[in-house]
Amino acid sequence: MHVEFHKHNLQSEDICKLHEVLDSLFLTTGPVTREFEEAFAGYTELSRIVAVNSCTAAMHLALLALGIGPGDEVITTPLTFVATALAIEHTGASPVFVDVERETGLMDPSLVEKAITKKTKAILPVHLYGTMVDMRSLREIADRHGLFLVEDAAHCIEGERDGIRPGHLSDAVCYSFYATKNLTCGEGGAIGLREASLDKELRSLRTHGMTSDAASRHGALYCHWDVPRRGWKYNLDSIHSALLIRQLDRLNGYWEQRNFLWETYKQAFDEIEEVRLPQIRGKGAFHLMNLWVPPSLRDSLLSFLGERHIGCGVHYRAVHTLEAYKKLGYDPEDYPVAYELGQSCLSLPLYSRLTEEQLSYVVEKFKEGLRSLAPSTVCVEVSLS
Ligand SMILES: *Cc1c(COP(=O)(O)O)cnc(C)c1O
Repeated sequence: MHVEFHKHNLQSEDICKLHEVLDSLFLTTGPVTREFEEAFAGYTELSRIVAVNSCTAAMHLALLALGIGPGDEVITTPLTFVATALAIEHTGASPVFVDVERETGLMDPSLVEKAITKKTKAILPVHLYGTMVDMRSLREIADRHGLFLVEDAAHCIEGERDGIRPGHLSDAVCYSFYATKNLTCGEGGAIGLREASLDKELRSLRTHGMTSDAASRHGALYCHWDVPRRGWKYNLDSIHSALLIRQLDRLNGYWEQRNFLWETYKQAFDEIEEVRLPQIRGKGAFHLMNLWVPPSLRDSLLSFLGERHIGCGVHYRAVHTLEAYKKLGYDPEDYPVAYELGQSCLSLPLYSRLTEEQLSYVVEKFKEGLRSLAPSTVCVEVSLS
């Protein structure tokens, strides 16, 4: 049996929408992009969505639009994809890491206040694996210190915690439509806004900082555009937008399937002492089936499963332990919990097209791997199975 780490679930209705675009005038950002933005604003219950070509671009532009730049500091988590830190650095600002909670892997709000300096301008939490950070606490801290709050919701379109959804307490929320994400068009992203005030600036910044884009100029008599502020080339075209629109109606169904699979995995792993699952707070988005195993076994388990054609991932080795950040002088023990979880984590396949047979195969091989790699410590498990 082969079990891919991820398989998209695009359907013929998505291809139909794509064909509509290919038969139409606008391949670049145009009416279909707008259609997606409005539909996604409806799904997320946000006032505005600005579609861009990645979540990295979304975070970069959101921070820029909030006025963040060289000399500023942005507080974030080291247990994330490197893009979170890079987006901060793209503005000229510096990421300041705070450690994570051992139970969830999420940024620990109780450590944030100690990391605030005169240079701090914003907090950028990540809803890792699809579980939301404690946004109420972060909003309180941000208000007390006059900071902006920008969310990395690459894993969390569907989550909710304490009655709050992504974007509902922050200044901007950033989504990813990368190939393996819950909503995908291959490469894409979006910024979500509670209030419309940054909308115009973001639309301009995503197309070089121009006062108008091709779609808004089309059909009118020629009118000169200008560039009041130099921007970037980050717009999402109609081709990618087309693939996203119909998926929105299937998102909740996919979520239910992942929720079921996640619970099935959880039941299988609950009895194994070496395996720890991140705790979910509120409604998880179930983006990744992440496990924490003893660091001494992690890489061997990855090889064991890989040799048996099971796709696995690592989400993530802590950012401050990566080569380029070590060169900046970070020590792994600067953020010991993120370091430990980053050495322990292993993600198993989790997606709507994963069958129960495939899941059983993954669990069986995982247990087999654990038994052969740590024979003495799983004897209880052996006698049970
Ligand atoms: C995927 C991901 C990103 C980057 O998304 P892109 O759309 O590829 O730029 C950022 N943060 C996290 C946590 C991610 O998983």
